[in-house]
Amino acid sequence: MLFDTIIRRKRDGLTLTRQEIDFFVAGLSDGSLPLEQVAALAMAIYWRSLDPVETGSLTQAMTRSGMVMDWSNADLSGPVVDKHSTGGVGDKVSLLLAPIVAACGGYVPMITGSGLGHTGGTLDKLSSIPGYDCHVSHERFRAIVRETGCAIIGQTGQLAPADKQFYAVRDVTATIESLPLICASILSKKAAAGITALVMDVKYGSGAFMQTPDEAIALSQALMNVGQEIGLTVSALVTDMNEVLGSAAGNAVEVLEAIDYLTGENRHPRLHRITVELAAEMLVTGRIAPSLDEARRKVEFALDSGAALERFARMVHALGGPADLVERHAQYLPLAPIRTHVHPLVAGRVTSMDVRAIGMALVELGVGRKRVGEPVDSGVGIVNMAGIGDEVGPERPLCTILSRSAESARIAAQHIRASCWTGDACTTTPLIHSRLSPNSPAASSAGG
Ligand code: URA
Repeated sequence: MLFDTIIRRKRDGLTLTRQEIDFFVAGLSDGSLPLEQVAALAMAIYWRSLDPVETGSLTQAMTRSGMVMDWSNADLSGPVVDKHSTGGVGDKVSLLLAPIVAACGGYVPMITGSGLGHTGGTLDKLSSIPGYDCHVSHERFRAIVRETGCAIIGQTGQLAPADKQFYAVRDVTATIESLPLICASILSKKAAAGITALVMDVKYGSGAFMQTPDEAIALSQALMNVGQEIGLTVSALVTDMNEVLGSAAGNAVEVLEAIDYLTGENRHPRLHRITVELAAEMLVTGRIAPSLDEARRKVEFALDSGAALERFARMVHALGGPADLVERHAQYLPLAPIRTHVHPLVAGRVTSMDVRAIGMALVELGVGRKRVGEPVDSGVGIVNMAGIGDEVGPERPLCTILSRSAESARIAAQHIRASCWTGDACTTTPLIHSRLSPNSPAASSAGG
């Protein structure tokens, strides 16, 4: 088979066969395909797209390019489920969902990434916990999931390595924004972790990669179609990312917010709502609960009984973190020493935010990376972030910056102030825009 024929066929809008796609992924995996040909195919797919069958073939081939975890012989008492978010600012939901779902009887082998662009990364947040090892072996990962019900670690070179190679090429050839390629990329990694059900949190808005609900719904539907092709149950919640999620954004500050949430000390209403809805969807999709109402009750019980907190503490300790992180969190998660209140340009209600710009201000502060491989600062970030509709002014700042220097705080404050608008009247958008599941694939409005 000649690879330039495959490129030409896709360039001309024809449908690729499973054999052609397998040939491509084999060449990606063993490095025999020149990168210019990989790039050319990526661009041809960007313009000509892939149908669900082709996308399913690509997903399966990338899944099989490395090891595929098999839980069927692990003697588990519940389903293996996961959640994936398309990324946002202040999104610490994974830290909460994994232990909640484990406490409800599910198993969550969550493989997660570092921050991407303006969005925060779960891996960077967990890395602020001293001793927490995000790169344990597969055997250890598997053992912790079996014993604790959940483990959150970083991406390994063994799961879906072809996706890693392809993503690196897409990243520098303006071909990331292709729905079938995004679907194949996300789902191949999830399928390689051996899960049977996936709930997607597809975000839209100023802090998301998808700008509008319609774009987010289109991605959700594409993910569900490909899920069906590969035998993975996928459902999706389309959620609002027009404001920072919760009250903190950073690394250690988000772990602290997660601990406060799990102990019940402080549950930010929006964070609570999205957590309960995603967890409930995981329980229903994984068939742990028969209905969303029953699932919500289970989730609330896991939180209020302390069972979710206990799973979180066990997971952290099993992965090398301190056994008493929850009790002595302030000692283990030191924050940057300089606190600067950011007051709005004009007092009033917060009417809108440019969340992407806030995320970029956080990257500049040290929360994220400007270049691949750069270290991040776990102690910097923002706390007490105001939401849309909150009154801000001399008494109530927009947020408080934690920084290492007055100069970095000054720059971040300038950007954050310029990214938040105030006025008299504001319209809030529903946090959960819609819910799509295999039984009701057309987006149903979820309200509130
Ligand atoms: N996240 C992924 O894992 N892959 C993509 O292609 C886009 C976002």
